[in-house]
Amino acid sequence: MLITLEGIEGSGKSTQMKRIAAHLEKKGRRCVLTREPGDTSIGKKIRAILLDPENRELTSLAELFLYAADRAQHLGERVRPCLAAGDVVVSDRFFDATTAYQGYARGLDLEVIEKIHAMVLKDLRPDLTLLLDLPPEVGLKRAISAIESGDRTVAESRFENEALVFHEKVRQGYLALAAKEPGRFVLVDATLTPDEVTEEILVAIDARLAR
Ligand code: C5P
Repeated sequence: MLITLEGIEGSGKSTQMKRIAAHLEKKGRRCVLTREPGDTSIGKKIRAILLDPENRELTSLAELFLYAADRAQHLGERVRPCLAAGDVVVSDRFFDATTAYQGYARGLDLEVIEKIHAMVLKDLRPDLTLLLDLPPEVGLKRAISAIESGDRTVAESRFENEALVFHEKVRQGYLALAAKEPGRFVLVDATLTPDEVTEEILVAIDARLAR
């Protein structure tokens, strides 16, 4: 089973990932936590290019292909083998992030993005996608306090360089995707407390496991 977590920065995905793993393991399910971009060693090099604030000349199209390359490696090296071994794979971001960020927010052609998804994913799609939704203003505040407390480096936070309006486009992109596929997406209000968010997430996961 493949579960993906999506949401703008500051939506609390990393905290929830650990709790999901603990829950699944308690239920006796082998669980693999993974992320995009940057889970594999090749992916880490791609992530470094993507997140280097000095790479201002990186075009949106080049960015799109770098995310696709990271995903192709991630799928081949990690996701597909783990799914074949019967593990529950939980990924912090997956292909929906590309549609939301590079498509809805950066304005690249959604049809081109769909074609790339078809090439990279073939017929693999997440069984469940948890969308941690919150206004960018709230995410920004949280991301900044995470930087101040040392959980994240400034270079890793693109809030430094990107306007709230960009993140609102990302958010609206995610919401549009969720509306198109209500069977796969579960929308979670990420302004709730971390414990409340966990509760909603675990209910959704248990319901999916019981199917
Ligand atoms: O979720 P994580 O912190 O690993 O994401 C790293 C950065 O990459 C974030 O700032 C996110 O906004 C950005 N990103 C992006 N396009 C994607 C996925 C992530 O711009 N498709």
